[in-house]
Amino acid sequence: MDYNFNGKAALVTGAASGIGLATARGFAREGASVILADINVEGGEAAAAAIVAEGGTAAFVACDVSDETQVEAAVGAAVERYGRLDCAFNNAGIEQGGVPITEQERESWDRYLAINLTGVMLCMKHEVRQMNKQGSGAIVNASSILGVVGAPGTHAYTATKAAVANITRSVALEQIGSGIRVNATCPAAIDTPMNERTMQSVPREWLENMQPIGRMGTADEVANAVLWLCSDAASYVTGHTLYLDGGFLAQ
Ligand code: NAD
Repeated sequence: MDYNFNGKAALVTGAASGIGLATARGFAREGASVILADINVEGGEAAAAAIVAEGGTAAFVACDVSDETQVEAAVGAAVERYGRLDCAFNNAGIEQGGVPITEQERESWDRYLAINLTGVMLCMKHEVRQMNKQGSGAIVNASSILGVVGAPGTHAYTATKAAVANITRSVALEQIGSGIRVNATCPAAIDTPMNERTMQSVPREWLENMQPIGRMGTADEVANAVLWLCSDAASYVTGHTLYLDGGFLAQ
């Protein structure tokens, strides 16, 4: 499907790797000017440079999404460079594996909440402020099938992803009538560096067979859904959590 994001500006957090990188490239390919935000400066700068080399318009901003000043600056960078912010994918996140509740350290718990949940809240706060000035915008937040079902050893991650799905619904309703739509993606296992790390303890076949479709998803398959949710083709879709899961939640 072709989308026309010409003249539009997009912000992608966690854009140095995996799903965020594929989405930033997708936005640029479809004509958007993109701000890539990430805590990984080297990877983020290389990603932005690669997009520019492919003929796209992109710039990197170092940003830890758990820091409000940095989030505000990332949104500000889109406005400064491109004059507006039309689309935002709040995708930055960290994974958890193999931590039983009895071993959960408070500091680590707080870090999951700060990045995976507070980061999404802070991004939406500053994105919506800008989009309210324009009277339009589309936001997508990164949830997960692990925001719908539980999994042992991942309680902090699953708690944040469930919360992301519900903060998405609340902000979508709050912004009804403002011209801003807010949705979430809900992927199963996607073949990204995050799952390469998971595969150090879980075999690839297990991750592949977890989905009834018999394989992991690709970062591009999630990026395509984000682009659709941000496009005018999804103009009636808001407050939605889109399952991208090869049938996992249909079981
Ligand atoms: P990834 O690890 O490949 O990429 C995540 C990116 O986020 C990295 O570039 C990392 O540097 C960045 N990041 C981490 N902490 C940050 C912070 N504090 N501020 C800014 N950037 C930060 O992961 P991915 O697989 O592409 O996952 C992207 C998102 O999708 C995550 O929110 C993840 O929870 C979610 N998700 C992934 C899967 C999967 O199977 N890969 C499934 C469901 C949901």
